[in-house]
Amino acid sequence: MKLVRFSSQGAVHCGVLEDTMVRLIHGDNLFSGELTDSVIPLAEVTLCAPCTPSKIVAVGLNYRAHAEELRMQLPDEPLLFLKPSTAVIGHREPISYPAMSRRIDYEGELAVVIKKPCRHVAPAEAATFIGGYTCCNDVTARDLQKKDGQFTRSKGFDTFAPLGPWIETELDPNNVTIMTQVNGRQVQQGVTSDMIFPVFFLVSFISRIMTLLPGDVIATGTPPGIGPLQVGDQVDITIQGIGTLSNTVVAEQL
Ligand code: MG
Repeated sequence: MKLVRFSSQGAVHCGVLEDTMVRLIHGDNLFSGELTDSVIPLAEVTLCAPCTPSKIVAVGLNYRAHAEELRMQLPDEPLLFLKPSTAVIGHREPISYPAMSRRIDYEGELAVVIKKPCRHVAPAEAATFIGGYTCCNDVTARDLQKKDGQFTRSKGFDTFAPLGPWIETELDPNNVTIMTQVNGRQVQQGVTSDMIFPVFFLVSFISRIMTLLPGDVIATGTPPGIGPLQVGDQVDITIQGIGTLSNTVVAEQL
């Protein structure tokens, strides 16, 4: 099932995608709301980010092939950082190229969306706390990441967390392909079976540190092939079984 959030006539609604139509969900809880009899053509709505996380917990280095590409040793434990809720944008919303940076990169990632409060859960229980999966672009100001050492500035600009286009509730997160294209040219490809720390382990590990809340997102790391974006570029992240998240890059409006 594909869950969407969308705006229509000035209000934000939740729904279920049924082929080319969206069936409205009563209320604002994507995961437990009741389906209504109202349907709207997908073509007539504007998709929003499919969830409104209180935080995005991101994993620094989680694909073996990416670690090899960077000539880095495989980590013993996940390296985590946070992206702020204010960085979130949806499908087809523009990524703003900050005036403060000279080098921003795409990072296509599988995003896990949490559906109920999650604290101290075992890997075997993790699936019951996951509402579904979507695509994430962990946009990064690479020059500032190197300069700062810390990730808050380089990963935290407004618009640096595109999510979408929707949440797929039925997915085996351990064996799907993930691909990034810039202006139609493939630049990244990986498979989630190459993850150093698989999804259920990550949910468990993070839940031992902080409470994950409904709508929170875990960005599970990027496969090899990271590279730059320029103003005017279109970046598409496609995950098998989910769909394609598309965004264009615009200059920051000061
Ligand atoms: Mg990343």
